[in-house]
Amino acid sequence: MNVFCKCPNCAVEYCSKTNAKTRVEYAKKYGNVVKLECPSCGEVNAIHVNKIYTKSSKSIFILSILVFLIGIGFGGYYLMNQILEMKTVVGIVVIASILLAPSWVYSILQKEDRLRVNSFNRTYLK
Ligand SMILES: [Zn+2]
Repeated sequence: MNVFCKCPNCAVEYCSKTNAKTRVEYAKKYGNVVKLECPSCGEVNAIHVNKIYTKSSKSIFILSILVFLIGIGFGGYYLMNQILEMKTVVGIVVIASILLAPSWVYSILQKEDRLRVNSFNRTYLK
């Protein structure tokens, strides 16, 4: 995932990639102080791991929105067909679950991402 820090020289936020899931893991890999080069001013900064943080993933956010919209789209389409054909109550229940599934997937994706961000940002090195 991407971890972020602010350049102490020019205050630009920049990121670096890592597969560490927590700050402690990150520090074990790279040390308590990491040297990162600012892409904006070119300065190589020694950043303490406690100053490094992560953010919600944009791709997971977009993916969950897509799942949600496509699911609602399909569910709505089926619902319209069912109403037009005057199907039974069972059909309506099935459609209701089709409409619920995307919201369920959406909330799971969002929750997973929040957990990932929290587990990194909430652990500090002493
Ligand atoms: Zn800079």
